[in-house]
Amino acid sequence: MSGLGKGVTTSSIAKLLQLADQKVSCIKIDPYLNYDAGTMNPVAHGEVFVTEDGGECDMDIGNYERFLNQNIPKSHNITTAQVYSAVIESERKGEYLGECVQIIPHITDEIKNRIRKIAEDENLDFLIVECGGTVGDIESLPFLEALRQMRVEEGPQNVVFVHVTLAPSLDVVGEQKTKPTQHSAQELRRIGIQPDFLAVRCTMPLEEKTKIKIALFTNVTSKDVLSCHDVKSIFQVPQILYDQGIMDSLFTKFGKVGMVNASANWNEWNRIVESMNNLEYPKIKIAMVGKYVTLADSYVSVNHALKHAGAKLGKSIEIDWIDSESINDFNILSNYDGILVPGGFGARGSEGIIKTANYARERNIPYLGICFGFQLAAVSFGRNVLNLKDANSTEIEPNTKNPIVDLLPEQKDVLGMGGSLRLGANDIMIKTNTITHKIYNANKISKRHRHRYEINKQFIPEFEKHGMIFSAESDNGKRMEVLEIPAHKFYLGVQFHPEFNSRPGYPEQVFYAFVIATSQK
Ligand code: GLN
Repeated sequence: MSGLGKGVTTSSIAKLLQLADQKVSCIKIDPYLNYDAGTMNPVAHGEVFVTEDGGECDMDIGNYERFLNQNIPKSHNITTAQVYSAVIESERKGEYLGECVQIIPHITDEIKNRIRKIAEDENLDFLIVECGGTVGDIESLPFLEALRQMRVEEGPQNVVFVHVTLAPSLDVVGEQKTKPTQHSAQELRRIGIQPDFLAVRCTMPLEEKTKIKIALFTNVTSKDVLSCHDVKSIFQVPQILYDQGIMDSLFTKFGKVGMVNASANWNEWNRIVESMNNLEYPKIKIAMVGKYVTLADSYVSVNHALKHAGAKLGKSIEIDWIDSESINDFNILSNYDGILVPGGFGARGSEGIIKTANYARERNIPYLGICFGFQLAAVSFGRNVLNLKDANSTEIEPNTKNPIVDLLPEQKDVLGMGGSLRLGANDIMIKTNTITHKIYNANKISKRHRHRYEINKQFIPEFEKHGMIFSAESDNGKRMEVLEIPAHKFYLGVQFHPEFNSRPGYPEQVFYAFVIATSQK
C-alpha cells in the first residue's frame, strides 16, 4: 500500500549496489492516469519533484537522487498516461499496420521498451524499478504483467523481484501478524510473479520465527525475508538490509557469486548517515509558513535540505509548519530562529505569507523565501517600504495597479496546465559584491525552476534605492532570480528551487547559509 516505504526500500537497495561500485539507477512507475505529477495536489500526493531536465515527478525520484547523490532524468518516472499516449499515437500514425492494438502485447511492450532503453542508454549494471500501488490494483496490472514477461525474456539470473509488504503488530505485546504478507504474496503469485525477496515493514525487528512462518507461506527462503523495521532515519535502511545479507543473496541470484561489496564509499556514507542522526546537536527552530502545510510530504525536499544543512553544521533542525491561511498573531514567529516560506500557488493563504515576509524583515529574523516565498517577499517590500498599498502578484490580484510580480511573457498564450510552467535547470548569473555571490562563491550557477510568474523589472530601481537588491538573474537579464537585503541579518529570496539540489552530506549552499544565520545569536 502507499506510504509503506517502497521508495526507501528501492533507494536503499540501489544505494547498496552503488556502494558495491555498480552503476545503478532507479525508475518509478506510477500507475495513475495523470501524465505526470505536475497537476496533482501536494497535500494529497506529496511534493512534485522537479528534475534537471524539467520533469514534474513523483517525490520518490527525490529519494533516489538523495540516496544516490545522482541526478535522475524525467524518463525515469513512468505513468499509465505516458505509456497509453505513446501507444495511441503510434496507432494513429498507422504504425501497427492493421493489427488489433491490445494491452498485451502493445502496452506491455511499450513498458518494457522504456525500461530497457534506460538501462541501455545509461549503460547501467543494475536498474531498480519501483512499481507503485498495491498488488491487485486494476491500474498496476499491465505494469506487473510487463515485469513478469521481462523475467521470462531476460532470464531469472537477470531479473529479481522484491515485494514490499506489511507485518502489523496489533497489541501492546507486539505480536507480528503475517497474514497481510501471506495474502499479498499470494496475490502476486496469482499474477505470475514469485517474489525472490520480501521486504517486510514492521515497527520492531521481525522475529526469526516470524520470518520462518512468512517463508513457509510465501515460497521465499527465510534468509530472504528481510525485516524493514522502523528506524530513526531512512538513511539507516541500507545498513539494516546489508546486515541481513541481502547483498550476498542478491549477487548469488544474479549469478555474480563472490562479488565484493567492500568499497571505500562505505566510510563516507557511514559518516553522512551518522551526521544525519546525531541527537546531541543543539536545536534550531524553524517556522515553515505556507499553504500546503498539512502533509509533511508536501515539502519533503525542503525539509531534507534543512536537515542536510543542519547535519553539516552540527545542529538539529526542528520544523514547525504554520498555515498561512489561519495565522493571526504574527508574534508567534518571534519564537523561531528562522522563517522559511516555500513554493506555492494561488491566492489562498497569500496575505498571511506577505505579512510573514514583512514580520521577518521588520524583526530582523532570518528569512528564506523560495519561489512563491521570493515573489511575495518582493510584494511585501513594495507594500510596506515603497508604500504601494495595492502591490501584488497578478496571480493573486490580476487588476492590481502595482503588479510587482507578473506572468512570464511567454506564459501569456499558454492555455493548458500540464507541464507548461518554466521548468527545469537554467543558468543563473550572479552579480559580484553581493551576499548571493558570497554564498555560492561563483558568477554562474544552474538551478531548477517551476514557475509561471516573475518579478516585474520595472520596479527594480525603486526597490534597490530602498535596500532590496536583486543580485542574480537569468535569460540574459530578463528574469530576476535572487533578492537580498544586505542590511538585514539574513533576508534572501530565490526564484529557483534550491531544495532539489541538496543531498545528504552536501547541503545546498543557500540552505547552508540560512541555517548558519539562524544559529547566530
Ligand atoms: N505561483 C508562483 C508561480 O507560478 C510560484 C510557483 C512556485 O512557488 N513554485 O510563479
